Amino acid sequence: LNIKAKDLLTLKKLGNGNSGTVSKVLHLATKKVMARKIIHIETKQMVQTQIIRELRIMHECDSPYIIGFYGSFINESDVVICMEYVDCGSLDKILKLVGPFPELILKQVAFSVLSGLIYLYDNHRIIHRDVKPSNVLMDSKGNMKLCDFGVSRELINSIADTFVGTSTYMSPERIQGGIYSIKGDVWSLGLMMVELATGRFPFGDNSISIQPEGILDLLQRIVNEKPPSLKPENGFSPELCDFIDLCLKKEEERHGPIELMGHIFLKNFNNNNSNNNNNNNNDQDQAKIKNWARNVRRIQKGKDVK
Ligand code: ATP
Ligand code: MG
Repeated sequence: LNIKAKDLLTLKKLGNGNSGTVSKVLHLATKKVMARKIIHIETKQMVQTQIIRELRIMHECDSPYIIGFYGSFINESDVVICMEYVDCGSLDKILKLVGPFPELILKQVAFSVLSGLIYLYDNHRIIHRDVKPSNVLMDSKGNMKLCDFGVSRELINSIADTFVGTSTYMSPERIQGGIYSIKGDVWSLGLMMVELATGRFPFGDNSISIQPEGILDLLQRIVNEKPPSLKPENGFSPELCDFIDLCLKKEEERHGPIELMGHIFLKNFNNNNSNNNNNNNNDQDQAKIKNWARNVRRIQKGKDVK
């Protein structure tokens, strides 16, 4: 799809991040509703062209756990990315609205994120690098998809040059300057799950207002302190607590995505896998997830009206 700036009608602003602004837009020619992310980057034209070239890999990403991609283009100093619009938005917003997620929803999060990570790595050798609640989107059927993964080396570099954002979901080894591996994404998943299970970021207040001095202190604590955990005495299942522990171990002992897929926490939990001999349970779970998502959407709509 060859999309141009003037073909897009802005419907509504969806959110602002460190690097860009996302809006719900209508592509006039096809009448498709899309999410448009605008990333402002002052850089040479050659670099911009390279970014757009690299982003094309996203056309080849075809998985129910990965956000759909319509196209990208340069508009003045902006890189514009058009992607699938996902109606309930990101998990951080949903958490703020409805509070801690039930365990069944946490299974859906873990299963979907791991499936997405495995897909990206196995098929495209892509490591996500930025797993966090605002980069996991849910639709009103309960499907969850990853967005904002590191497809473009040039885009990653340009954003790093332009913005002073530090992700607090970064693994200890990464904070210490190690290379990014898929296990870094597993750490981020574990941290995110603790946040979604308890309603708060495990290393204290994670609001955007963290001061630069505060960030250093926080990063130090992530490296030095015992990793966060969930406790069965607080009402979490032992399976969930163990799953989180395996995600938040130090790099060498941390489990990889494929091992975690086989963990008891996700046993008998299976999206759309027909050779599952526990289908009854599974159908019931899927119906409950759908219901939960529909309800989230209903609450969101009620808020919009006010
Ligand atoms: P950061 O810039 O640190 O990654 P972020 O992920 O919150 O933070 P953006 O990626 O710019 O920032 O996204 C802003 C918001 O837009 C997100 O929090 C999310 O709620 C919403 N959003 C992003 N993509 C979509 C999409 N495809 N469909 C619906 N909402 C989206
Ligand atoms: Mg994002």
